[in-house]
Amino acid sequence: MSGARIGIFGGTFNPVHVAHVRAAIEVAEALGLSAVEFIPSARPPHKLGGKLLDFELRASLCRAAVAGIPGFSVNLLEADRPGPSYTCDTLAELAASRPGQDFCFILGLGDLLCLPSWKDGLGLGRLADLAVHSREGQGIEAFTAFLTTHAQGMGATPTADPAVWTLPGGHAARFVPITRLDVSASDIRARWRSGRRIDGLVCQAVLSQLLTNAETLRTAWGRAVSA
Ligand code: ATP
Repeated sequence: MSGARIGIFGGTFNPVHVAHVRAAIEVAEALGLSAVEFIPSARPPHKLGGKLLDFELRASLCRAAVAGIPGFSVNLLEADRPGPSYTCDTLAELAASRPGQDFCFILGLGDLLCLPSWKDGLGLGRLADLAVHSREGQGIEAFTAFLTTHAQGMGATPTADPAVWTLPGGHAARFVPITRLDVSASDIRARWRSGRRIDGLVCQAVLSQLLTNAETLRTAWGRAVSA
């Protein structure tokens, strides 16, 4: 990877899985990001309540998932901030703590479409570039429709390339097609609850930590795998 922009990949990561890691790798490759920081949400505003593993365990699983991937790391800056972990606050904190550093917030197309319900969601593009990923061959129409609808609220302007819109402060929103893997954390939790195997959906280091914490998972997710 080359260039100076750092990718910021936020999520609940309950648990982190192989599609999270692949999405981050493919976006980083496509945009030439110098590094990617996974930022587990300490208190996700939309997912508070049951079934959420403790922040420390989700963070530890993220560390295991990115270990050995060049340029990848886990940033725990949401740990000590009280109240819900809003992305706008996280991006503002990153910008304030590292002046001059360019950041690129990585999010799925589904999350882009939900931005109007996030705290200052339409303003995220004032704090960082946006890299919106979607399954290869799908989604550019929804990306374009969203930016057209919210052009005023986001301060977005189309360019000759339909996959790139300019945003305030020299930022840009980019559509990035990736190989979509149909893996989801909710499916992994459901498999775990019903005693099915989750090998291959999470990396071995993550699986090994999940097995070590089987008792904790039983409380958070339900029944654990028997083998
Ligand atoms: P859940 O199933 O619990 O809702 P999730 O994986 O959808 O979990 P997060 O852990 O918050 O939710 O996801 C973090 C980021 O990873 C989001 O931007 C989401 O769009 C993206 N993501 C989740 N699953 C995939 C996938 N299969 N391929 C690419 N990106 C994904």
